[in-house]
Amino acid sequence: MIVVLFGPPGSGKGTQAAGVAAHLGVPHIATGDMLRAEVERGSALGREAAPIMEAGQLISDDLIIRVMGSRLAEPDAAAGALLDGFPRTVAQAEALDALLRSRGRAVDEVFLLQVPDDVLLERVLKRAAEEGRADDTAATFGRRLAAYRDETEPVLGHYRRERVPVVTVDGVGTVEGVAERIHAALPRPHQLGQAS
Ligand code: ADP
Repeated sequence: MIVVLFGPPGSGKGTQAAGVAAHLGVPHIATGDMLRAEVERGSALGREAAPIMEAGQLISDDLIIRVMGSRLAEPDAAAGALLDGFPRTVAQAEALDALLRSRGRAVDEVFLLQVPDDVLLERVLKRAAEEGRADDTAATFGRRLAAYRDETEPVLGHYRRERVPVVTVDGVGTVEGVAERIHAALPRPHQLGQAS
């Protein structure tokens, strides 16, 4: 089961992902978390990515596709994955399709968390106060949202063209309320072919 959790910065993907991944029995793979860990570690990849992330821009397709290619080849992803923050461009979506196709698989479902811009900004500024993420400032948020509209939103059109189900979930409300709406829309375990 390959599920893509999709939505603008601040829409709650990271908050909701653990529960969804546990339900599906697949690992939660978040490119933002992976990149931040590389920055923390001071690796070559981290040093390359840090200034780009701080500016609210996207790191290159080539680089992130390589990172994800090796991550998806790890044994825990054999049963599938919940992808958070990837694919973020149509080129990344096409690369993911090709990678999965070579293993006889495909993206099964896309969950779109829908949240209006003013609520997004409010949440990101709150997260800045709590966690101090370098890219959670009002100025950088504007650039991240622009990158989402220009480069990431077209990925939805790609999946619709490919006839991958895109499920829209209202992402406004409490963490528990949104979790309930996502869970109501998730495939049930028996539909996933798991013993329950
Ligand atoms: P958010 O929660 O704001 O959507 P993430 O934590 O997913 O942000 O990602 C933070 C930053 O990491 C992005 O703004 C971007 O610079 C970089 N990044 C993460 N995933 C990708 C990707 N698939 N392609 C390019 N850049 C990425």
